[in-house]
Amino acid sequence: MSSAHRQLLPLKANSVIGILGGGQLGRMTALAAARLGYRCHIFHPEAESPAAEVSAFATRAEWDDEAALAAFADSVDVVTLEFENVPAAALSFLEARVPVMPGASVLSITQHRVLEKDFVKAQGAETAPYRAVRSLEELRAAVAEIGSPCVLKTCRFGYDGKGQAKLWADSDLAAIWGSLKTDDAILEGFVNFTCEVSVIVARGRDGQVVSFPVVENRHANHILDETHVPAAIDPRVAEEARRVAAAVVAGFADFAGLLAIEMFVTADGHVLVNEMAPRPHNSGHWSMDGAVTDQFEQLVRAVSGHALGSTDILRPCVMKNLLGDDILKVPELMKKPGARVHLYGKSEAKPGRKMGHVNFMGIEGGAG
Ligand code: AMP
Repeated sequence: MSSAHRQLLPLKANSVIGILGGGQLGRMTALAAARLGYRCHIFHPEAESPAAEVSAFATRAEWDDEAALAAFADSVDVVTLEFENVPAAALSFLEARVPVMPGASVLSITQHRVLEKDFVKAQGAETAPYRAVRSLEELRAAVAEIGSPCVLKTCRFGYDGKGQAKLWADSDLAAIWGSLKTDDAILEGFVNFTCEVSVIVARGRDGQVVSFPVVENRHANHILDETHVPAAIDPRVAEEARRVAAAVVAGFADFAGLLAIEMFVTADGHVLVNEMAPRPHNSGHWSMDGAVTDQFEQLVRAVSGHALGSTDILRPCVMKNLLGDDILKVPELMKKPGARVHLYGKSEAKPGRKMGHVNFMGIEGGAG
């Protein structure tokens, strides 16, 4: 590590925060960093980068371009990420040169659904029943053990319902296994949940842990549609969800940054962890207008060595994603009192693509 990287904490204004990934999460992190006087350097392989557009520096290169990674590492004071599937080799390469938060040890777990669930259970949290599945024979055995309905998912690179299939008693297992095109999957029992919630928890470089309030997430076509804040659940269940989140983050030996944990709430009040992401999360976008400190500022505070901020709710609110052609509704949304519109500057509105979101302030019910 060069002497530039042994800076005293908190990082001084004008320090440079490196962000791995060039999407909207990086964009909103960079905007929050700018408010605290920091500059961001985005590392992104894609041609278009909503994050690079608002940042002082950007490197467009592939994850295996060591010359580009080395130059990036030399130019920043700390690295964080907005994309959890950064290849392990790129992370180790960077970690040898500059602090990366969260680092390779965290991502090796959160990039793989079986390792993730093993880890969560080891921290004393509950999950749906699950089995690792590497072949059609293992799938048949796992379905027999877990029972139907159940859900088959690829262990890596699944998102927004991609790489998963619901299985029923009469499903053609051979056809479904073939269509998944993987030899590394997980079979989970289907959870008859009453609602889906999430908790985003932050840990600072000094070990301080602060969680955001529990929110309820409603999906449409497997993509997050709305987040309702606060979640309308029994306060004891909410307390349990926050306790679980703190226990999971405490399980990582070395962690600074954000951990978003998605959970199912069952009719009998149990909280089952579904999955987690070591980065800002779509279900935390409400905090940009609804919390004393938003999730992006909290991430910047965590990795720059500042104290974490208060996550208290200012007003109940509903966050609604703007997907694809929803972007056409923006002129009307701008007329609504209490609606705060956030757009990501993407040039093409493909179906299902996250183009922006709206925070409807002071609303506890539907987003209207
Ligand atoms: P995931 O990619 O794991 O977040 O799954 C996407 C969505 O599929 C979740 O938000 C749930 O709505 C649903 N889902 C995933 N796993 C299960 C499960 N084991 N039981 C019931 N619903 C599930």
